[in-house]
Amino acid sequence: MSRFPRTLPRRRGTAVHVVVSGGAGFLGSHLCEALIARGDSVTCVDNLSTGRLENLTALLDHPDFTIVEEDVTTWVAPSRHVDAVAHLASAASPPDYHRMPLETLLVGSRGTERMLELADSHGARFIVASTSEVYGDPHVHPQREDYWGHVNPVGPRSVYDEAKRYAEAVSMAYSRTRGTNVGIVRIFNTYGPRMRANDGRVVTSFIAQALNDDAITIYGDGSQTRSFCYVDDLIRGLVAMLDSRETGPINIGNPAERTVSSLAELVIALSGSSSEIEYFPLPQDDPTRRRPNIELAFRHLSWTPRVNILEGLKRTIDWFASRPGEVHEASSALQGGQMGDESSVDRHFAKPAA
Ligand code: NAD
Ligand code: UDP
Repeated sequence: MSRFPRTLPRRRGTAVHVVVSGGAGFLGSHLCEALIARGDSVTCVDNLSTGRLENLTALLDHPDFTIVEEDVTTWVAPSRHVDAVAHLASAASPPDYHRMPLETLLVGSRGTERMLELADSHGARFIVASTSEVYGDPHVHPQREDYWGHVNPVGPRSVYDEAKRYAEAVSMAYSRTRGTNVGIVRIFNTYGPRMRANDGRVVTSFIAQALNDDAITIYGDGSQTRSFCYVDDLIRGLVAMLDSRETGPINIGNPAERTVSSLAELVIALSGSSSEIEYFPLPQDDPTRRRPNIELAFRHLSWTPRVNILEGLKRTIDWFASRPGEVHEASSALQGGQMGDESSVDRHFAKPAA
């Protein structure tokens, strides 16, 4: 039996048709797979700006799966009936959205509007992948959904944070004015197989560096915290939200909080690495702590995470260990706290702290 039994209403004789924007990315590809596994029909729309077709290898020949290589800000959907839209398209890693600031704002604004229009015109369910970044550098801890956040609207992270805050606002406006069946999910840091080794996020960077026995690059003194959710848990939460009529916003994340330093130690130990640690300045506006309150997810979606960090990291490390070429290249690029000329990382991060 599928891990994701369906509760979306099935129209007589046809599979439920879900449009997944950003479906070739890390989370999107896992979501497409979960939906196909339970018998839905999926159209994935992705411009491959940070996604990869190889994430969808297992689905490309499936009769119920369609990939459309298009930008969601301009894509004109064919007339086929749509039952649900999952809007995940957006750069998500800080180096990616620093590299593509205007694109990130556009996909969060116009992209969200177009996906809302699509859902609304079919009377379809719509969920949007929002983020813990809407809380900014939070003054309330852990973060509950009724906290409005502490966000710098003009800092380097604002292109992402404000795009997502707008995505939430326009979703609520559709819900209020047109009655669109909207669901807002605030995703906290999620990790797992299919992330890109060179995406610059902390889990991927530390794993690539540890597997390569290169220095682990900690930004700041490593005392900042994050709460890491394994991808399978996150996808269960997204599917539950897709199937519900909850508007949210609802946090989905693992509340087990840890410092970036302790994550580095754990990754080194689990991968049997001889890596040492090198410290770099903390990027501007880097949130000092982050941990979801997940009472709403439990109450409304019966959702809690099941995979602890030890198990999740082991699975992720094993996956990256099977891709030594990608890992080696990524780790070399990450050394010195830099990811290449085009990356914003070298613009935001200086040389190692003395
Ligand atoms: P990702 O970069 O792997 O995936 C994003 C996908 O969107 C990519 O396939 C990319 O090519 C596609 N895309 C971007 N702009 C597009 C456009 N204009 N048109 C069509 N496709 C476009 O990132 P991810 O980690 O899978 O994140 C997926 C979603 O979840 C994002 O909206 C992100 O903001 C949100 N999110 C993720 C996390 C996390 O920890 N992974 C945390 C909070 C929120
Ligand atoms: N980080 C780090 N070294 C790295 C990459 C990230 O110390 O090589 C830190 C980063 O400064 C932040 C935390 O790890 O404090 C999480 O960073 P990530 O980019 O994964 O996600 P976000 O900041 O968006 O939560």
